[in-house]
Amino acid sequence: MSSANQASTAHAQKVRLQRMFWGFGNQLCSLTIAVMLFWFGLVPGTVVIAYVLMIAVIDLTFVGLVVSHLNLRLREPSMTAAQIVAPLWPSIFLMFFIEDPQARTAFLLMATGGLLFGMFALTLRGMIQVGALILLAYLIMLGTLAMWAPERLNWQVETVIVFAYAAVLLIVSYLGSFIAGMRRALKKQNAVLRDLATRDPLTRLPNRRTVLDQLAQEKSRTERRQPDQNALCISMLDVDNFKRINDIYGHHAGDEVLVKIGSMLEKTMRKGDFIGRFGGEEFVIILPETTPHAASSAAERIRKAVSELAYSELPADERITVSQGVAIHSPGDEIDVTLRRADDALRAAKAQGRNQVVAAPDP
Ligand code: GH3
Ligand code: MG
Ligand code: MG
Repeated sequence: MSSANQASTAHAQKVRLQRMFWGFGNQLCSLTIAVMLFWFGLVPGTVVIAYVLMIAVIDLTFVGLVVSHLNLRLREPSMTAAQIVAPLWPSIFLMFFIEDPQARTAFLLMATGGLLFGMFALTLRGMIQVGALILLAYLIMLGTLAMWAPERLNWQVETVIVFAYAAVLLIVSYLGSFIAGMRRALKKQNAVLRDLATRDPLTRLPNRRTVLDQLAQEKSRTERRQPDQNALCISMLDVDNFKRINDIYGHHAGDEVLVKIGSMLEKTMRKGDFIGRFGGEEFVIILPETTPHAASSAAERIRKAVSELAYSELPADERITVSQGVAIHSPGDEIDVTLRRADDALRAAKAQGRNQVVAAPDP
């Protein structure tokens, strides 16, 4: 797993735990209702204790699954439906022992509150399925009451309750899935916007803005470290005589050259290096914690590798070369200053005949 993936998994797990704690808030209300019912003599104390224990076991199980990362092996790691449905059974158990039909419905209300958590992940179908399960559980409870304690049952009232509750579940499911859909669309849109803002559409490399952000980060990271031999190096790379390629073979061929060079740069970079498209046919390679000597030989390796690339849009004997200017960042300088020094070195490489690497003089 890449470190970016790891970070997003850790974030997702954190969000899951957070939502779980909101869910516990919901259950705390149910618990309060249970204690109130006991207080008013509507339900036996032992039943309330059993109810609390069941809820505790369920909650600890879910927290344990997330903390141990076992949930990541499930098809739906957020376990949304399970977390709505599982606490339902202790409620149904408690409802069975409640003397008064009206008091019983208090728990149905709380189950609806739980269903609202479905907005975070469930589709309309999922919401309706979970809602139907809540209703089914209630009907089972009524069936059990009819068999074991018919005196606690008022059929007329229950018919109205079941009908009203089915309607409420449908409404909540529709609204909930609508909001869930909006959340999903928003998430997707955010990802698209982030991509548009940070990447170059042709080469898919980080764009100029992202390169500058990265450089600012690396600058402060370098300056925070103990001064030592290893420093932040920048190589500015420009394709040689690129206008000629466009003029002779067309823009399409020019685009292919940029894409191929971009992907080659990406493939050859070390872990920790950063590559971006800085402008038209210019790329910037950021080499943190590198000696000037190592930076120059990395640039030289790149120069050689580019000169060996072949292109489907170009004749086989057409070779594309690049020139590079390498500069070492001097702590305390603005990053613009370092970039300008790299650019000056690049222009020197062009002046000296192209297809070469020139290191900027020490500041
Ligand atoms: P030098 O060796 O001195 O760098 O010469 P050059 O021809 O590479 O430099 P010049 O700046 O004259 O030309 C750069 C060309 O790059 C001009 C521009 O049309 C082309 N270019 C910039 N962006 C793109 C792009 O996305 N696709 C294509 N096909 N061409 C591009
Ligand atoms: Mg050029
Ligand atoms: Mg250029």
